[in-house]
Amino acid sequence: MSSFLLEIVTPDRKVYEEQVQMIVVKGIAGELGILAHHIPLVTPLKIAPVTVKKQGAKDELLAVHGGFMEVRKDKVVILAESAELPGDIDVERARAAKERAERRLAAKKDEFDFKRAELALQRALTRLDVTSR
Ligand code: ATP
Repeated sequence: MSSFLLEIVTPDRKVYEEQVQMIVVKGIAGELGILAHHIPLVTPLKIAPVTVKKQGAKDELLAVHGGFMEVRKDKVVILAESAELPGDIDVERARAAKERAERRLAAKKDEFDFKRAELALQRALTRLDVTSR
């Protein structure tokens, strides 16, 4: 199977740059599997794990917190506010963020705080998901 270059970039750093066989991402309209030679495409991403398949290797999972995926002719670029490999995730911090967000959701303050807490909860759950699989 052909491979393609995957780059995952945040405002701080390049989190990932490897030749891969396939990725599965969660776009706003649902899951998308991308192989080499996919037609060019730009889509917003949900806060969710990204699965990376490489030949002869175990699947890799990254926590990708929203942003956009751009499928180009020569490579795929994911631009996200934040993204982490499982080994870079502080599990205790993610657990604390999850509990904080749950408390804020239970407090049912204004709509803006609620939305922020929902997004924070989604980031925390994504971090916990990729570190537990
Ligand atoms: P927290 O409330 O713990 O800061 P957050 O979801 O608000 O979590 P982000 O705004 O998504 O954090 O990220 C800010 C920076 O901190 C990014 O560089 C992100 O990669 C990093 N980061 C956030 N949570 C963790 C974590 N649990 N382990 C490692 N890095 C993290």
